[in-house]
Amino acid sequence: MKIYNFSAGPACLNESVLSVASEASLEYKDSGMSLLEMSHRSKEIVSLFEETTENLQSLLSIPSNYKILWLQGGASLQFPMIPMNLISKGGSADYIDTGSWSSKAINECNKLETAITIASSSKSNYSFIPKQFEQNIESNYLHITSNNTIYGTQYKDYPEVINPNGFLVADMSSDILSKPINVSDFGLIYAGAQKNMGPAGVTLVIIRDDLVGKNYRDIPTMLNYETHVKKESMFNTPPVFSVFVVNETLKWLQNLGGLEAMAEINEQKSKKLYDEIERNSLFKSPIVEEDRSLMNVPFIFDKEGLDDKDFLQFCHERGLRTLKGHRSVGGFRASIYNAMPELGVDTLIAAMKEYEEKIVN
Ligand SMILES: *Cc1c(COP(=O)(O)O)cnc(C)c1O
Repeated sequence: MKIYNFSAGPACLNESVLSVASEASLEYKDSGMSLLEMSHRSKEIVSLFEETTENLQSLLSIPSNYKILWLQGGASLQFPMIPMNLISKGGSADYIDTGSWSSKAINECNKLETAITIASSSKSNYSFIPKQFEQNIESNYLHITSNNTIYGTQYKDYPEVINPNGFLVADMSSDILSKPINVSDFGLIYAGAQKNMGPAGVTLVIIRDDLVGKNYRDIPTMLNYETHVKKESMFNTPPVFSVFVVNETLKWLQNLGGLEAMAEINEQKSKKLYDEIERNSLFKSPIVEEDRSLMNVPFIFDKEGLDDKDFLQFCHERGLRTLKGHRSVGGFRASIYNAMPELGVDTLIAAMKEYEEKIVN
């Protein structure tokens, strides 16, 4: 039976990418060595990093005044690194709180300087993206989470920053590469790889070059963006294997027709699933329609007396895995990132229909 993994992260990877990765773990490019044991100073690996950076640059049309970094520590380490590098001494930054990941970013910022939460949808269990807020003109940046992995909301349009010297920062961990974006609208974009880009272990940072080396304070070397810009992401031993898998994913996206083509597929997959949630008498979406995520689709029972575990078991028997909703939302969550095939979504929809028939009759 074909298994479909709907996990929110680490998430499914494309099968052809996994197959190339398994070969490289035995031998990399006729070197007689596994990629896992190769030096990051070798010619092969230096050129792998260059190629990965170029492929990303071309897929996302990243302007030449942006630096691309392949770091470690996950998106979670960016929560403190961003304020450490980018808020002036005694300064502040504006944050929009749209879920647990935004809240964590806010908490980390507050350990260093002042995070001002200018809007939050926490009182409605994060069922929408706030669009009314007042920015602080003196804040260094405005931070958003472009897609809220846990609650299933996503920005369709990004806010504009009012401070002429300010800039937008976005945690794009769970929707990077799902559609084209205009990189020049942002000062900094970051994303852990394990949702939509590759395996855990590598974190992408795209930073406008004038923001590198601000040196507002004495920053530990490893936590300073300037260190990694100067050393081209090879200050210390980088996660070579993870970067390799990211590069294979980028090549797969290119062959598919790039991010315009990917966005069309993502629109189609998510529309099908949301349509079924609306149609099916057993389920409903907890999220306002206009802010629904194309990547993470939470849904809950719309009837009393139904058992979440029973539906999860029903899905399990049909090869549909990791559909349990996050504990703060309950119900179910289908993460349908780039690598989730349309057939996986179709199989889930068929199971929802079949379950409805079983319950209703
Ligand atoms: C998963 C996730 C994170 C945390 O990523 P790590 O790489 O595990 O630190 C942060 N933000 C968002 C939006 C996420 O989905």
